[in-house]
Amino acid sequence: MNDPNEKLTEIAKQVRTCQRCALHTTRKNSVPGEGRANTDVMFIGEGPGYHENEQGRPFVGQAGKFLAELLHAANLARENVFITNVVKCRPPSNRDPEPGELATCNEFLEQQIEAINPRVIVTLGRFSMGKFLPLARISEAHGKPVWVKDRLIVPMYHPAAALHQPKLKPTLLHDFSCLPEVIRKAVEAHEAAKPAPVKTPENKESHPAEEAKQMDLF
Ligand code: SF4
Repeated sequence: MNDPNEKLTEIAKQVRTCQRCALHTTRKNSVPGEGRANTDVMFIGEGPGYHENEQGRPFVGQAGKFLAELLHAANLARENVFITNVVKCRPPSNRDPEPGELATCNEFLEQQIEAINPRVIVTLGRFSMGKFLPLARISEAHGKPVWVKDRLIVPMYHPAAALHQPKLKPTLLHDFSCLPEVIRKAVEAHEAAKPAPVKTPENKESHPAEEAKQMDLF
């Protein structure tokens, strides 16, 4: 199965019926994520809240409304990116996801990242940041892109954090407003790292597999 849309559909199908961790016992709907398969940018939040659990869609409550504002500040349309969470089922009473739940659900997230292969991953909140940058502190790392292998990881505060601490709102808006430049540089770096086509004995062009090199752009 090479079509990323088909892969995402298959992953979503598995998530909808998953019973691999205890969160399935309290969920109403699991939330696989949604958006474009063919995109340069993926947003990863923490887990579904009340409204997400009701509707089976990510970021549809108050935090989702603020995310729409943030995407607007970044000149991004929601339908042109992919949005998901580190756990796909709502932790009861919106408690933090537990390490075992994060580890179990991580397989779905890895499959989604592999299917989409985004140039930029924006982490929303400390749990998704911790997946890529386990030693980072969100208060220091927010808005600062970091190369992890051949992707730029951009840690951001979770939009819900600004609902509880309004002083974070301008910080989030500023960090999101820098995203277009981050995405442009990540795409350029990816293009520059592509190996030049070589001639095969049959005089056909081919692109030998080669991992993109990390580049110091920031
Ligand atoms: Fe399955 Fe993830 Fe839901 Fe746990 S949180 S039941 S692993 S989909």
